[in-house]
Amino acid sequence: MANKVYINGTLHAKEDAVISVYDHGLLYGYGVFEGLRSYAGKVFRIEEHIERLWDSAKALWMEIPMTQQAMRQAIEETLEANGIGDGYIRVLVTRGSGTLGLDPNQTSNPQVIIIADALALYPEQYYKDGLEIVTVSVTRNHPAALNPRVKSLNYLNNILAKIEGLQAGCVEALMLNHKGEVAECTGDNIFVVDAGTLLTPPQDAGILKGVTRGAVIELAEEAGRTVREVPLTKHDVYIADECFLTGTAAEVVAVVKVDSRAIGAGTPGPVTRDLMKRFRLLARA
Ligand code: PMP
Repeated sequence: MANKVYINGTLHAKEDAVISVYDHGLLYGYGVFEGLRSYAGKVFRIEEHIERLWDSAKALWMEIPMTQQAMRQAIEETLEANGIGDGYIRVLVTRGSGTLGLDPNQTSNPQVIIIADALALYPEQYYKDGLEIVTVSVTRNHPAALNPRVKSLNYLNNILAKIEGLQAGCVEALMLNHKGEVAECTGDNIFVVDAGTLLTPPQDAGILKGVTRGAVIELAEEAGRTVREVPLTKHDVYIADECFLTGTAAEVVAVVKVDSRAIGAGTPGPVTRDLMKRFRLLARA
């Protein structure tokens, strides 16, 4: 039973894991987070997630009140304390409690929270048959506003997109950036396959630079494929041979329909299936 939550160095029972309502993480969404996966008790690419957490914090003028090494230990200890082998870990750092005003200089006591839990995986059916997604009207955050590369506690933009997707009967939704180019989905990065070459939006297209995205690029290149990070339009997606998403929770999952159009043959393609297999092997290595 997963029930111990880490807060600032102490493990609490889930019911007792509480923080102040004056925390600017709650009042303003001022904070950063990461979602990580463990496979047989080993956290996948833990250093990359920790690095991204620190980068997100830096972009938000936040200091994480511990070393990266201590964070790694805290994540591993929390996982172990909860007896989780294959699981999902959520790490949050809040700005801390302050006044009701916006001024972050009035805040103190940032909260470092680590939750380790069982994984809510997509049903196996999605991996077998692929997903249908729709493009939604919500634009991905402009990089000059809250940059999508920052994994902040304010995820409302993506939630609004997710709601639109759910209303269309889709569990994922495709967001375009302010230029009308393909950015990413609400919690996953997107790739297409064109004549055997992988194409994916570049990091300045308004995306979170996914850890899974990076791992898949490496795997594809190791397998002798060309991967190009280039701006994509919806048209490029519609005419692609294959399309797939990558994310910590989803791993690699095929997309077989976008905006009611079948992608390629309308079933998970060979390049996607090969990468799904390679990723599963890598994650469980
Ligand atoms: N984009 C967004 C908006 C996300 O929230 C996530 C999940 N963290 C991803 C992409 C995928 O990133 P990762 O592979 O690091 O989980």
